[in-house]
Amino acid sequence: MVKFAEAETRRFKNIFVCRVCKSKVRAPNLKVIQGKISCRKCGSKQLRTLKKK
Ligand SMILES: [Zn+2]
Repeated sequence: MVKFAEAETRRFKNIFVCRVCKSKVRAPNLKVIQGKISCRKCGSKQLRTLKKK
């Protein structure tokens, strides 16, 4: 499902929100999925896309 992932990447512009402190983190979608990105503020790896409420 490469096409879908690509479309999703564009739609959310690689912006993720930390579930813990709710700060925005801009990172490549793939790296977030692989768990390589952590929040700059609190170091949490629990990131979500902007879409979910
Ligand atoms: Zn955080």
